[in-house]
Amino acid sequence: MEPRLKIAIQKSGRLQEDSLRLLRECGIRVDDGKDQLRAQARNFPLDLLYLRNSDIPQYIEDGVAHAGILGENTYLEKQKDIRSVIFLGFAKCRLSVAVSKATEYPGVQWLQGKRIATSYPNSLRAFLEKNHIEAEIHDISGSVEIAPNIGLADAICDLVSSGSTLFQNGLEEKEVVLRSEANLYANKQLDPTINGILDKLIFRIQSVLEARQHRYLLMNAPVGSVERITQILPGMKSPTVMPLAVEGWCSIHTVIPEARFWDIIDELKASGAQGILITPIEKMIL
Ligand code: AMP
Repeated sequence: MEPRLKIAIQKSGRLQEDSLRLLRECGIRVDDGKDQLRAQARNFPLDLLYLRNSDIPQYIEDGVAHAGILGENTYLEKQKDIRSVIFLGFAKCRLSVAVSKATEYPGVQWLQGKRIATSYPNSLRAFLEKNHIEAEIHDISGSVEIAPNIGLADAICDLVSSGSTLFQNGLEEKEVVLRSEANLYANKQLDPTINGILDKLIFRIQSVLEARQHRYLLMNAPVGSVERITQILPGMKSPTVMPLAVEGWCSIHTVIPEARFWDIIDELKASGAQGILITPIEKMIL
């Protein structure tokens, strides 16, 4: 049988949808794992293993899965001997300490001697040690945010992104323990054939992520403005400039980082650009 790369992804939960979307944008056709633990890609030598998020680091270390998608927070908490292969840019969050809004919080020393509820005891312990704080860690597996309200803890240490869950529970974020986003992690001793398949996957992921961060920009401009517009554009190389049927006008095409578009749009308009179009890019190979 042909060797196949076994990738673990979350069986259910926040990371699953973005993980599957990424693989699909990489041109890999897979089922969504409903009622199954394993799915075969039909057009790439890859099998998906749908597993519990917190079990994935161990499965990768053991080689049951060759690689897997998980948040750095889980990787740092589980302390397994696996390697990060590529940052994936989704599931951005932070692990933070929060206390009741009513608390007078002068600084980290307030945590001295307090009870802190968390599902991330190792990460919290490391943070407390670094800050020379001795506190009682209550390791609970879910609904951490209600712990202060029911008298179980004085503070919590949990994942935050928008902060709305904290807000709804009358809590305020006070200390950031770590920042996290989804990563692809891999076993440290993959055989060369499997590593080769992983490299192909990484290449595809890179081109999808590059494309997501860039936009294709088209505009019309008077020929006399081309030099000025070219200086404004942070393009890949120099932009493509093509004559229009109307005398004295041309069409300018280039690729720009998504984040820069709104910074340069006014300058482009002021330089005479018209009919500006910006479109997504599907894949980008540098
Ligand atoms: P869950 O689906 O709640 O088991 O979370 C799975 C993973 O998604 C976590 O290990 C984090 O990496 C990430 N995550 C959890 N909560 C958040 C959040 N509020 N915002 C962004 N990512 C999160």
